[in-house]
Amino acid sequence: MADKNITKTYYKDDLIVKWEPHKCIHSAICFHGLPAVFDPRKRPWISMEGGLREDIIRQVKKCPSGALSIQQDEKV
Ligand code: SF4
Repeated sequence: MADKNITKTYYKDDLIVKWEPHKCIHSAICFHGLPAVFDPRKRPWISMEGGLREDIIRQVKKCPSGALSIQQDEKV
């Protein structure tokens, strides 16, 4: 279903979260862990304003498939 070339990006100040839909295995770990940010019922389904930067980073790192990843600038 998902196009392998699609990458979605979400921003919070200098924090950039990438989501690659074709890698997502729908484990639900992200939206159980941080539902104010990750909510598949919403569009866009990631609301960066819903969480603290540290919490978002921690949650993204728990993604088992690598669909979610962090792209950070040199300040981090
Ligand atoms: S944690 Fe990763 S693999 Fe699981 S639903 Fe979220 S994005 Fe998809």
